[in-house]
This record gives sequence, structure tokens and C-alpha cells, in this order.
Amino acid sequence: MNALNIFHETANNLYACAEKWKKATGKKVVGYFCTYAPEELIYAAGALPYRIFGSKGNITLSDSHLQSYCCSFARACLEEALSGKIGFLDGTVFPHTCDTIQRLSDIWRLNAGFSFHIDVVLPVKLNTESAKAYNTDVFKKFKKDLEAALETEITDEKLRQSIRLYNSIRKALAEIYTMRSELPEIITGKDMHAIIQASMVMDRNHLFENLTTVLETLKGNKGSTKKSRKKRLVLAGGICSQPDIHTIIEDSGGAVVWDDLCTGTRYFSGKIDDTPDPVKAIADRYFERAVCPAKHVSNTYRGENIVRIAKERNAGGVIFLFYKFCDPHGFDYPYMKSYLDKEKIPSLLVEVENQLPADGTIRTRLETFVEMI
Ligand code: SF4
Ligand code: SF4
Repeated sequence: MNALNIFHETANNLYACAEKWKKATGKKVVGYFCTYAPEELIYAAGALPYRIFGSKGNITLSDSHLQSYCCSFARACLEEALSGKIGFLDGTVFPHTCDTIQRLSDIWRLNAGFSFHIDVVLPVKLNTESAKAYNTDVFKKFKKDLEAALETEITDEKLRQSIRLYNSIRKALAEIYTMRSELPEIITGKDMHAIIQASMVMDRNHLFENLTTVLETLKGNKGSTKKSRKKRLVLAGGICSQPDIHTIIEDSGGAVVWDDLCTGTRYFSGKIDDTPDPVKAIADRYFERAVCPAKHVSNTYRGENIVRIAKERNAGGVIFLFYKFCDPHGFDYPYMKSYLDKEKIPSLLVEVENQLPADGTIRTRLETFVEMI
């Protein structure tokens, strides 16, 4: 199987991938929410960090716990737990982010039935020295909690190895993104989506080997890849679990050349420094990386950032993609749009549920937007 197929196979069979790893290694699998979970510590503890993406099917069991006006991401994740689909997890990690995730954490602790549950209570403001020091302490506490839960010791040496591996993975993902930005036809959005999604669940050593293979293949294909005539677009929002969105955009004559997503640049941007205190180094990365709307840097940061991305990537438009009832993204959207408007960069808002509607409305809106820019 070639490396790209391995990514698709993994992304299409997330549960089977983790279950197979667990059976083969006899080790533990730790579910986590959000890019604010310090995966490097989980991996250094000998466990597999598994990003929880939420069930794709109908949501029924969660309805006993969450109102229908909660985002369908939270509802779909709880559904996955209550239905036993992610019963292979040994425990879960909840970083302190949006209100929905904070409340979901309490419901999860009482109902999901995993053997351990760790809240990582991060600061909300990521712009002061005191927040930096506090964040390091939070991660040090998380390290202790994880060691106790997994009955292991995370030595500095193991942590450094994990950091080196994660730095290499992030660098490889950034290189693939950069190549795609220069030559959008070199890899499809659906392939890119599979790579990112698989990156969050598969064995990270195996992941790095496959990323290296994909990167080498793409470098080899550069000369023969034709220049794209597609309209250059940026995708912005939270989690994108909708590979079909990419196909619709490409069928409409567009190409995503960069993003500001949790399942995208926010996952891999930033390098962890090799400093004497590896936990501090992991914590400090979050102060350099672009924040999502659940964290605060300044009243203008995210607006300026989306304009900067669009200009740097020579994009003709921005598509905001987030879940219905997602308060953090919903609050930031008007002001981010106004920043784009001021620069005359067109944008489109697409709100989704955990499944795309079958009626073709999203296709029509995307086609119209791409045609317009
Ligand atoms: S938008 Fe922020 S809080 Fe929500 S999953 Fe992404 S990183 Fe986490
Ligand atoms: S950031 Fe938005 S989509 Fe993600 S859990 Fe919070 S409310 Fe839901």
C-alpha cells in the first residue's frame, strides 16, 4: 500500500487503526480533545494520543445529556463515547477551552466510563509572562496526573525524544502545506485532509515515515505538475471533519491553499525548542502558535491574522467553516469578516453539522462563491 493510501485507510477507519495498534503493542490509547492537549507528553508516556472526532452517524444517546443547541461536534463526541465506539480508549484528556467542552468534560466524567479523566486547566489569555508560567505549571501537573493514570514515569529523555519526533512531524506537514500552496494541483484537498486526520491518531513513528515518503513523492512530482488555474482560497474555522468539502471546492474551480483550522495549520505550526526544561518548552509553543477563538491574545489578533494569511498566500477569498452553535467561532466571525471586508477580500460563511446535508445547498453556495471571486 502506498503512503497516501495508508493515510486514507487510517482516516476511513479511525477506530480500527487505534484498536489494531493497541492489540499489537499491548499499550494504552489516550483520547484527547483539541489542539491544546499536549500530545508530546502522552506519547512520551508510551501511550497513543487519539484525537476524538465525533461519531458520523445519527445522534441519539447524547440527547439525554446535551441540548440540541449545543454544537454537533460535542454531541457527536459524546455519542461516540456512550455508544461504545471508542471503548478502546483507556482514558481521556480535556483541555480547558470553550464553554461547551468544559461542560462536556463534567458530563463525560460522569457518564463515559473510561478509567481515567484528566482536565488540563489552561489559561484563557495567552499573552502575558504570568500566563506562560501558569501554563507550564498546568502542564507539569498534567504530567504527574498522566504518570499516575498510566502507571509510568515520563523521563526527560523520553520527553525529549517525543518532542524531536513531533517537531519532525510538524515540519513535514508544514512542508507539504507549503508545496500545496505553491502548486495546488500537487495534492488534492481530500488527500491533505486524510493526512491531517490520520496524523492525529496513528502511531507517530509510523506517521513520520509515511509523511517522509509522501513528501519525497511530491518533491519528485513537482516538475511534472501543471500550474493551477483554480481560484486560491483559505479555509478558516475549527475542526474540519468533512473531506467532501474539499472535493466540492475543487469541483467548483477552487483550491484551498492554506488554512486557519484546528485540523490544519493550528495542529502543526510552531516548533518546540530544545531547552533544559522540556515541559516548559512544550507549554511555550502555545504562546507562539496562532490562537483559536477559545483563547485570547488581543482584540485584533485573529482579524489581522486572517488578512495576513490571505495576503501571504495570495488567496482570492476566505471560506469560514464551523459548526452550527459554535459560540467561539460565531463570536469572532463578524469582526474577522470586517477585517477582510476592509481589505476587499471576499469571504463566505458555511456552518455545518457533523454530517453534510444531502440537499446540495452547500455545493451551490460554494460554486457561487468560487465563481464570484
Ligand atoms: S477551535 Fe479551539 S477549542 Fe475548539 S477544538 Fe479547535 S483549538 Fe480546541
Ligand atoms: S470550539 Fe465550537 S465546535 Fe468546538 S467544541 Fe467548542 S463550541 Fe463546539
